[in-house]
Amino acid sequence: MEAQPTGKRRRIVLLGGPGSGKGTAAAWLAKKLAVPHLSTGDMLRAEIAAGSDLGREAAASTASGRLVSDDLVLRLVAAHLGKDAAPGFVFDGFPRTVAQAESLDRLLHERASRLDLVLHLDVPLAAVEERIVGRLGCPSCGRVYHATRMPPKKDGVCDVCGAALQKRKDDNLEVLRERWKVYGEWGPRLVAYYRRHGGFAEMDADVTAEELYAKVWEATTA
Ligand SMILES: [Zn+2]
Repeated sequence: MEAQPTGKRRRIVLLGGPGSGKGTAAAWLAKKLAVPHLSTGDMLRAEIAAGSDLGREAAASTASGRLVSDDLVLRLVAAHLGKDAAPGFVFDGFPRTVAQAESLDRLLHERASRLDLVLHLDVPLAAVEERIVGRLGCPSCGRVYHATRMPPKKDGVCDVCGAALQKRKDDNLEVLRERWKVYGEWGPRLVAYYRRHGGFAEMDADVTAEELYAKVWEATTA
């Protein structure tokens, strides 16, 4: 294994709109740093599956159609941070509000810790839409292409198995736009909040996955 730089940051929050690549970048980075990837959605599902007190509470509120409260999310996060927030973490999908960001600062402060890095993966909705609109899949072997970003060698034909490529059905633009509307209500405020703090970095995330990983790693080791 390659020598790891010593200046790595290990307490990290990733911000970015739907389709920015935040989730996959967070999973990649957490693995590379050997720290937990903390997604509140995954944590909630795990607690519900385990039937813990928190899980039962979360299940009750989602069953009644309510959103899981800030308070419950924070207790979940506190439980996963442990007593000392070591050896680090990569948060993805949390915090979602400035109030949650302030609470996270407080939770870390209580553990004599703090965030090392907040990374904003900046990509405009139009770019995410373009990615989705051009996406093609092979119904036979499952390989994914893109009309302009990753075209097959022969138009409309899978490089691997020769089957006719299809537009992917699961890529719903309306769902994406709705999720961006929701993100627009809290994302920019959080970016503004963290911009005022130290350890904020921003990057153009309208790049390939490999390029994004390289940029994320550069910011983590800067
Ligand atoms: Zn194929």
